Amino acid sequence: MTDSTAPITQDVMTIPRKLPEGPTNLVGLTRDKLREVLIAHGTPEKQARMRVNQIWQWVYQWGVRDFADMTNLSKAYRAELAENFVIEIPEMVSKQVSADGTRKYLVRIAGGHEVEVVYIPETDRGTLCISSQVGCTLTCSFCHTGTQKLVRNLTAGEIVGQVMMARDDLGEWPEPGQGTGENGPRLLSNIVLMGMGEPLYNFDNVRDAMKIAMDGEGISLSRRRITLSTSGVVPEIAKTAEEIGCMLAVSFHATTDEVRDKLVPINRKWNIATLLEALRDYPKASNSERITFEYVMLKDVNDSDEDARRLVQLIKGIPAKINLIPFNEWPGAPHQRSDWDRIEKFADIVYKAGYASPIRTPRGEDIMAACGQLKSATERARKSRRQIEAEAGMG
Ligand code: SAH
Ligand code: SF4
Repeated sequence: MTDSTAPITQDVMTIPRKLPEGPTNLVGLTRDKLREVLIAHGTPEKQARMRVNQIWQWVYQWGVRDFADMTNLSKAYRAELAENFVIEIPEMVSKQVSADGTRKYLVRIAGGHEVEVVYIPETDRGTLCISSQVGCTLTCSFCHTGTQKLVRNLTAGEIVGQVMMARDDLGEWPEPGQGTGENGPRLLSNIVLMGMGEPLYNFDNVRDAMKIAMDGEGISLSRRRITLSTSGVVPEIAKTAEEIGCMLAVSFHATTDEVRDKLVPINRKWNIATLLEALRDYPKASNSERITFEYVMLKDVNDSDEDARRLVQLIKGIPAKINLIPFNEWPGAPHQRSDWDRIEKFADIVYKAGYASPIRTPRGEDIMAACGQLKSATERARKSRRQIEAEAGMG
């Protein structure tokens, strides 16, 4: 069970892990860093910029993983690259496809850790929900990931690597020389940082990965097609506007500090008033139109008409849309989903106050891919072993 009184700490997992000596992985390096490592391995400084552009395009625009295929580089240079570097992305361990077409991938990263990635096809878009941490330091009461301790932050390569892996699986890399999207709408057109973890507690890596996703010579997604969801790490919000500039979603979920303290414990550090203050500046600072307020509908906890009215009062003046999320169940969850007519009534009040209030249709529920249901399979397995032991009187 989640201990909602546990202190909020940001685990210091950013200390670089000692990696075994070996070739450097180029995936996830910023353009500057890539330039640096190329020069360090003998690329003449004068050529470095051009080489960065060439390699960058092969890797991020055309999905090439083998230096030998980079045909605009000399054979000798390709051989040199292959000696010193690798192009590696996380390994897909399994894939489940839901009856509604949602795909859930289990992905293994260095150290044998696992994260989940979800692809949600819709008529006009395809959204990839990616993870930024293994587990989470926070313990939101309704969230399955929150029951798993933070294991570590993902590297920038592991974050952008999830996008590359999904494009592999969707078969969506353009032919060399072509741009993405030339043959109709993209299958993977949007990214949401709404998988496992709190992206703003892994800021630098998330920023570097999203810069690659937004780069016109990289994965080339518009910053308006990338949405970062935070539980409310206030000091990082202005930085997100400045350094990433993507769309922002905030896990709001309650209209009084008393209730939000329980549901989203980070509220005890940065309360509703402080959070709203930081959000007021975001759309202007990031040049994005509006903020998405996520609101999980929990029966008899946060779903009254009064809550709906308080919500619209609170966000007055902030360009916003309110995304109502019917609570998704997971084993042992301490909440229930609000009744459907309650959700509609709530949505109606918000809508009449002038805000879009879409109700998020749960996707991929049959494969536990819906919001808040993600958790590493390894962790699940461990837990069930513990349960088995307990049941057998061994625990
Ligand atoms: N840590 C970030 C991003 C991951 S959670 C954050 O909290 O914003 C992505 C969204 O799913 C958040 O709005 C979160 O509150 C919501 N969520 C978590 N558990 C859920 C559940 N069981 N049912 C529905 N939504 C849930
Ligand atoms: Fe972490 Fe977000 Fe889940 Fe809260 S809702 S525990 S911040 S992943």
